[in-house]
Amino acid sequence: MICLSCYKKSAKAYCPSCRKILFKGINIPDTLNFDTPVPEIFYVDPSKKKLLSVSGMQLKYSLKLQNKELQLLVNQGEYILKPIPKYHQLEIIDDLPENEHLTMQIARQVFGLKTADNALIYFQDGRPAYLTRRFDVLDNGLKLAQEDFCQLMNRSAGVNGENFKYDSSYDEMGQIFREIGTPVTEQEAFFKQILFNYLISNGDAHLKNFSLIRADQGGYRLSPAYDLLCTRLHTRVESDVALDLFEGDMDFPYYDTYGRYGTPEFLELSARLGIKESRARRFLADFTSEQKMDQVSQMVENSFLSDSSKEKYIALLKGKRTAFD
Ligand SMILES: [Zn+2]
Repeated sequence: MICLSCYKKSAKAYCPSCRKILFKGINIPDTLNFDTPVPEIFYVDPSKKKLLSVSGMQLKYSLKLQNKELQLLVNQGEYILKPIPKYHQLEIIDDLPENEHLTMQIARQVFGLKTADNALIYFQDGRPAYLTRRFDVLDNGLKLAQEDFCQLMNRSAGVNGENFKYDSSYDEMGQIFREIGTPVTEQEAFFKQILFNYLISNGDAHLKNFSLIRADQGGYRLSPAYDLLCTRLHTRVESDVALDLFEGDMDFPYYDTYGRYGTPEFLELSARLGIKESRARRFLADFTSEQKMDQVSQMVENSFLSDSSKEKYIALLKGKRTAFD
């Protein structure tokens, strides 16, 4: 069988190295000892999301590793569990947990992004769920000082309206990095996440899906990536990106001609983030290389997506890739 986290060959549900990363080395089986929870009891994140936002339709549950088992908690757990959502507006909904797990693994293994640790796991009834270990909760139970960009930019529904998580641009988020004075490596990591989201058709990378973590010795760094998935797999109305790249980006040459982002728009964003042009060009060439495309295709083939979803996932990526020829 293959490991339900990294897709490598494994004798158990999770290979030794994933077991160590995810479960403190404990041999956790592929099936939880409970069934899909009743939402009213363990529903953690009831905040209203924008209409048809995919991540807004995912219920989140909290788990803790206790007595060598994953147990459901009301909150304050070490893990977040996301079952298949129960909303009819989304298409091929049964593939959603694996879409998130696959996309997170592609981000980490193929594109080298720092991501939250994650895996696929099953309920008693055989239905899959996406499992992720909270990177803000340390082994000793202490929490890292983490703020998402709604907090960093003082945005809330009460003050900024229902659309508060989407009413910004990646360039505007970049100003926070400049104000705080983070090293340019953090802006580069941010730029790579935006480029990845675009290529993988994640139209839901809004302000709350990026965070900064305060380091003990002072200063901030970009948190590992989380909530990555190919949203276009489940909804045709999803936009290419959650936020504009920068104000006026639609007047840029590629967008003006083709109605979507290409190299000129991403180079402009990178310049605004303070990234050297030579480095930005290298990131663009690397992320859109044939080698990367082949590696993604291979990982998609190895995944637990349905055959039709595999085809669609790869077709969407190849479509995006043509914007960088
Ligand atoms: Zn593994």
